[in-house]
Amino acid sequence: MRTVDDWLASEETGEAFSHCVRCRLPLVEIAEPWLVNKEIMGGECVLEYAVCQPCRDAVTAEFSEESKKSVRDFLEKEIDWDERLMEFMASHDATDRFESCIACLTPRRVLEGYGLSALFDSGGKLVLGPLPLLICLPCVGKMTASLSDASRSVWRRFLEKNFDGPPGDAGFPGML
Ligand SMILES: [Zn+2]
Ligand SMILES: [Zn+2]
Repeated sequence: MRTVDDWLASEETGEAFSHCVRCRLPLVEIAEPWLVNKEIMGGECVLEYAVCQPCRDAVTAEFSEESKKSVRDFLEKEIDWDERLMEFMASHDATDRFESCIACLTPRRVLEGYGLSALFDSGGKLVLGPLPLLICLPCVGKMTASLSDASRSVWRRFLEKNFDGPPGDAGFPGML
């Protein structure tokens, strides 16, 4: 059984994320929370990073208000937060959250691809709130369907700048 730490560790190092992907600072040394995002396709991790709160804010500030609103609208309308949070609370194991998509509830075992998102506090403790969550790529597609071209290029630039390899148009913009 994978523990929640296993789920949220870097697939590359097998250990917890240690540095922010953008400012490269050690996460435990900055007195700020951070977010861990991973994207899995066909069982392979295709994108993974930790990003500190100030860097996350700096990137999301570049997204247009309309784009942010379209994502917020999706999250509000397509996710039954009352239901989900009640289930999360009733569960003693945070890995239960990774069993199905938070929006459409499709079980993970039949998903081709999905994103994981988790929030850690400044001391490195996993925060149990609306996150951690798993969302399937079709739902990510719906969530980002109304992003403006300008916002898409913000995301693409973030990928180009901080990751090696060809930047895909894909990538779960889990920091919104
Ligand atoms: Zn940073
Ligand atoms: Zn879904």
